[in-house]
Amino acid sequence: MESPPVSADVDALLADLRADLGPDAVLDGAAAGARHHVDWSGKHACPPRAVVRPRSTAEVAAVLRRCHAVGQPVVVQGGMTGLSGGATPLPSELALSLERITGVESVDADGGTLRALAGTPLAVVQAAAEDAGLAFPLDLASRGSCTIGGNVATNAGGNRVLRYGTTRELVLGVEAVLADGTVVSSLYPMLKNNAGYDVKQLFVGTEGTLGVVTRVELRLHPLPAERVTAFAGVADFDALVRLLGAARRGTAGRLSAFEAMWPDYYDYAVRHAAGGARALARPHGAYALLECEAAETADRERFESLLGELMEAGIVEDAVVARNLDEAARLWRPREAAGELLGGLQPSIAYDVSMPLVRLPAYLDDVRRAFRAAQGDRPLFAFGHLGDGNLHLVASLASAADANQVDRIVYDALRGFGSVTAEHGVGTLKRAWLGHSRTAEEIGLMRRLKAALDPRGILNPGRVL
Ligand SMILES: Cc1cc2nc3c(=O)[nH]c(=O)nc-3n(C[C@H](O)[C@H](O)[C@H](O)COP(=O)(O)OP(=O)(O)OC[C@H]3O[C@@H](n4cnc5c(N)ncnc54)[C@H](O)[C@@H]3O)c2cc1C
Repeated sequence: MESPPVSADVDALLADLRADLGPDAVLDGAAAGARHHVDWSGKHACPPRAVVRPRSTAEVAAVLRRCHAVGQPVVVQGGMTGLSGGATPLPSELALSLERITGVESVDADGGTLRALAGTPLAVVQAAAEDAGLAFPLDLASRGSCTIGGNVATNAGGNRVLRYGTTRELVLGVEAVLADGTVVSSLYPMLKNNAGYDVKQLFVGTEGTLGVVTRVELRLHPLPAERVTAFAGVADFDALVRLLGAARRGTAGRLSAFEAMWPDYYDYAVRHAAGGARALARPHGAYALLECEAAETADRERFESLLGELMEAGIVEDAVVARNLDEAARLWRPREAAGELLGGLQPSIAYDVSMPLVRLPAYLDDVRRAFRAAQGDRPLFAFGHLGDGNLHLVASLASAADANQVDRIVYDALRGFGSVTAEHGVGTLKRAWLGHSRTAEEIGLMRRLKAALDPRGILNPGRVL
């Protein structure tokens, strides 16, 4: 890669961008508002030099062409719900916001595809699919604010990976703009297309370092007749794993979510986000939230009797099945509140690691032991998308300065067999730890790709690599 970018004259660049895009498309940092200063991680807030708000792919291309020409670094911003610092500006960056490139352009109900602009909120995409009698199954608690472009850039996971995979499995095509302003349209609505390299994958999960996603072609699935939600209390981690296996086998692939919560997290979440209302009469050693997608009434009945059998077999100690959407929302509430709860624990730090399930109990014991030795009896909450081997940890710190000490505890314990980020991405916050989960050769290849597609290093510099 060429030497670090230095912008010649930012004022002249901004004047050119105002002339190209119109004065309301370029807001000086202060006028743009604090929401452009930091993502949901809340770490290292910094105002951008200015926020540029193009209205179309052609305008994104015009912005990048000019920035590339003068070596001006750009940070791409979607809904700012990311948790890895990727969309948080570094000093003197321009923020390129997708907030005005929004809308669902078309839905093909027979073909099962949907085309949307990158700044469209995920909830809007989900609603458009449902209006056509179909489902876009990607689902995150941030659905109202995160954008489909951000979901693609981070290869978001969420609650239904167990059945539908990550965002990557739901993306048929991508239109993206490269750092030099070249528009690459790879928007094919076909499931099969082996004509050479699958270039859309360059933009899925690469966190805006290789191109700006402007449009996506998505794969829709049949809308289930009903989503049946159940909440179960079990004795321990072993019982959670047995419940997961039995529920997957017993629902013939219809299990769409399996969320685990350890008692310290569940108790805290119930107290602070659910008005103290516990779903089950007495405490248990671990909890699971299960969602089964029913095509017909018989699927609900089968799911309920499966839980009954698992109680008789002693795998489940107690369980409740929601009878309607309100009850389902109440069962989900403690799990969905994770993002809000962070605010009450400051200073705190959140992790999203993954590993093979068999390694998880020993890993968690190791981390808890080391955390207790370093931070005493401060809370270390554990919960996560267990069906995907994805564990979320939230640690309350004695001092914000302890973050690096706790990073080391959490990441050193998984080196060689786990991932430092299962779904939130590397951004800036996990960049120092990439080598714990990727080989030197893998990182070398990533650098070669970055240098080939963004030779001046202007696009999301300092993220991922
Ligand atoms: C309450 C809550 C719950 C969450 N739950 C989950 C979860 O279950 N699973 C999960 O995976 N994540 C989860 N997240 C994290 C977050 O919502 C996702 O990472 C989401 O995909 C980010 O989308 P965004 O539009 O907000 O992106 P941003 O935060 O704006 O950006 C994220 C990254 O993508 C880049 N980017 C954004 N838009 C584009 C684009 N159009 N082209 C290129 N690069 C782009 C940015 O530069 C940045 O590096 C959660 C967050 C919150 C606050």
